[in-house]
Amino acid sequence: MSLVNFGRSMPKLKALFGIRGRLILLALILVLPLMVDRVRVLENTRVKQVEQAAHELSELARHTADSQREIISTVQAVLKSSAYIYAAAAQQGRGCAIMRASLRVDLPWIRSISILGTEGKIQCSTTPSIVGLDLSDRDYFRHALEFHEFNLSDYIFSRAANLPTIIAAYPVSAVDGGPEAVIIAAVDLKWMSQLMTDRISRAGVSVFLVDSTGVILAARPEHQSLIGQPLKDTSLLEAVAHKEINLNRDSGSISFMSADGERKAVSFAKVADTKARLIVSINEAQLLGDIDRDILNAYIQLGIVGLLALLGAWIVGERLIIRPIRAMTDTANRFGKGDLSARVSSAGMPQEFAPLTRAFNVMASQLAEREREMVAANDRLTVMASIDVVSGLANRRGLQSRLEFEWMKALQTESGLSLMMIDVDHFKLFNDTYGHPEGDACLSRIGETLSAIANETSGFAARYGGEEFCLLVPNTDAAAAMQIGERVRAQVERLRIPHSMSASKVITVSVGVASISPSDAQPQDDLIEAADAALYAAKRRGRNTVIEHALIRATDQAVSLAS
Ligand code: GH3
Ligand code: MG
Ligand code: MG
Repeated sequence: MSLVNFGRSMPKLKALFGIRGRLILLALILVLPLMVDRVRVLENTRVKQVEQAAHELSELARHTADSQREIISTVQAVLKSSAYIYAAAAQQGRGCAIMRASLRVDLPWIRSISILGTEGKIQCSTTPSIVGLDLSDRDYFRHALEFHEFNLSDYIFSRAANLPTIIAAYPVSAVDGGPEAVIIAAVDLKWMSQLMTDRISRAGVSVFLVDSTGVILAARPEHQSLIGQPLKDTSLLEAVAHKEINLNRDSGSISFMSADGERKAVSFAKVADTKARLIVSINEAQLLGDIDRDILNAYIQLGIVGLLALLGAWIVGERLIIRPIRAMTDTANRFGKGDLSARVSSAGMPQEFAPLTRAFNVMASQLAEREREMVAANDRLTVMASIDVVSGLANRRGLQSRLEFEWMKALQTESGLSLMMIDVDHFKLFNDTYGHPEGDACLSRIGETLSAIANETSGFAARYGGEEFCLLVPNTDAAAAMQIGERVRAQVERLRIPHSMSASKVITVSVGVASISPSDAQPQDDLIEAADAALYAAKRRGRNTVIEHALIRATDQAVSLAS
């Protein structure tokens, strides 16, 4: 079964590997590598762009994180100096008043500075209204008391300001002679966001400062509403944390598939000395929009160029090769069917086909010439085949074709047609007496006599067979035919060819004459048969005589023949 199918598909395969198929293959071999190379370059560019963007993002994240760190550092510095002032003032029992008087919170990102006692209540603050607030349960407060070091809270909702905030805490006890108290500053997140906006202006980039629990601390203006809310894509946070752990570094980059199905290039950096981290991400589709468009265009171009190459090769193959071959095949077929004038025109043919068309046309001319020669030779042969060599007259075949011709003519002109059947009398005896060659010579002389009479009467003489001759005379009625028959008989007798065995001692002939006005209904053979019957009658009458067979109408003919 599979063999049968294979057999069927062979012509298609052949067409595929035909001239057009090969041209197409050649065109593709020429064009495709260039196009594929272009696509490869674009793909490489894409990869590089991804790498570069990742690098840029990572730098951006690091620098922004550093800037954030600067804010934290200034907050730390302010808290430290405030701790000194408070410690010094506390020794004089006037800590809070001095601190409030001497500390100006002139940094825009510090909302307030407050002192917490060991019991966790605000003893003193640049915002007097919050004095007495209990913050003993806050982690930053406990951490500062316990570890005697600066620390930063996660995102909290400030009880004092009733605003989202982060708190920086510093233990006053860290200062020499400082009492057990904690000094805290509420950091305004707005400023952090402001800083991001200043640093990161690239379109399509999302940037978030998140605390250790993933709550957004700062964002660019378009994402302001998200501040205080957990990062929606928690898996992103996990991926970042995972990367941090794996790399054991505070910054890095990942390619991340977000929950909404978009692939994002993400860079992150931890803000030093804090649990906060900056996450910068960009939608890869947005980042790579241009290059992806270029790649798509390149693929479309590749397709179009490929298609054009196919089409071009097909057309070129068709015009330059297939069409000329088809033209030559058609001409060869015409020639084969007998149109000897068929020649291939070189007009519109590619130059390369000129020698072939020339050779073809020369061959066609030679074949046509041969054909003409053959036809002429054939004609000669036909004529030769119609002539009797002994008498020099037409033979029976010649008579037959002439009879057809004269019959048609007589039909058209409605004229009479006469046929004489002439037979040499006692010719067997002549042969027996004088020999066959002498017999041939005798036949030849009778032929000459008949030929002369035929010339004079516009008739046609033929040797019908053996020692029988015919004389076909057109445009003659029965009476004229009888006269010509008599002339034949008399002229042969006048030849005086000796024939010792005949009664007249010379060669004589008997003549049967038949005349007819041809009609469509009447067969030509009737005329021959009538003449033959008349000849038979002449023989019976004693030879050397002329007898007419009266043939007037077709219907009479049957009667006459029967008689
Ligand atoms: P009849 O008067 O009844 O016609 O008698 P016949 O002898 O002429 O007729 P028959 O048919 O008996 O003999 C015809 C002879 O003609 C026989 C043959 O030898 C001779 N003959 C026929 N063709 C040729 C030829 O080409 N050359 C020669 N020499 N003789 C021929
Ligand atoms: Mg005979
Ligand atoms: Mg005879």
